[in-house]
Amino acid sequence: MRLADIKGRAAVLTAPDRAVDLAEASNGRFSPDIQLAYEQWDDAKAFAATLDDSASTPVAAEDYGNPIPRPRQIYAIGLNYTAHAKESGFAVPDQPTVFTKFVTCLTGPTGEVALPPGDVDWEVELVAVIGKAADHVTVADAWDHVAGLTVGQDLSERVLQRSGPAPQFSMAKSYPGFGPMGPVVVTPDEVPDRDDLELGCLIDGEHVQRSRTSDLVFSVAELVAWLSAITPLLPGDIIFTGTPSGVGMGRKPQRFLKAGEELVTYIEGIGTMRHTFSGGA
Ligand code: ZN
Repeated sequence: MRLADIKGRAAVLTAPDRAVDLAEASNGRFSPDIQLAYEQWDDAKAFAATLDDSASTPVAAEDYGNPIPRPRQIYAIGLNYTAHAKESGFAVPDQPTVFTKFVTCLTGPTGEVALPPGDVDWEVELVAVIGKAADHVTVADAWDHVAGLTVGQDLSERVLQRSGPAPQFSMAKSYPGFGPMGPVVVTPDEVPDRDDLELGCLIDGEHVQRSRTSDLVFSVAELVAWLSAITPLLPGDIIFTGTPSGVGMGRKPQRFLKAGEELVTYIEGIGTMRHTFSGGA
């Protein structure tokens, strides 16, 4: 299943850029509020499998909203690709490094993001969405608790991030618009290989990050297992799984996002996001 928020309503894609409204097609059995779909994930998935293209309507790129608008918990993992840990000046961690992105930073897969003062950097990330509560799950069982995958950007303001005696990851990564996601949540069975997907991003057409999720230090399954041993994961929670190398902070000279630039972010088998930037120092 490919689930999307289309103009504020939950919808199932039945073909590329064609969708069926989930609430209408189910005569109200499912809510138009996409966040609630994760509470009924198995039912929604089974219902979606019965839909065909006959009742679908075309979807334009700007119609897609954030497919996970109100997760109760947002986990984000730092230093989870070896080359990125090195470019950041850190050792590869022996357990996940976790922070949060506060929910007000979340936004959809297109649009303009206002740059706050400072050095705003890009971080393409695979985002895993929880579909079934996970409490002390094993690595072997972890994928059963994942509803699907989407594309994320962990936009980060590096001056605030590095101020003070300990990293201010959570605040520096939570300005409004700093958590774009979308355009769709894809069930793991519909991507080419749930553990090995190309991901990357481009600024004005120049590839700045390109890697594969098979290079994750801690895989999606390992993250779900590790996190769930401490905090139960709830339906609709999300995990930003970390970014590969190629961020602006790790470049010589360093480079950061500027007003007027376009950032295109993609993951193989899931989709593409496009954002522009305004303001800034
Ligand atoms: Zn990140």
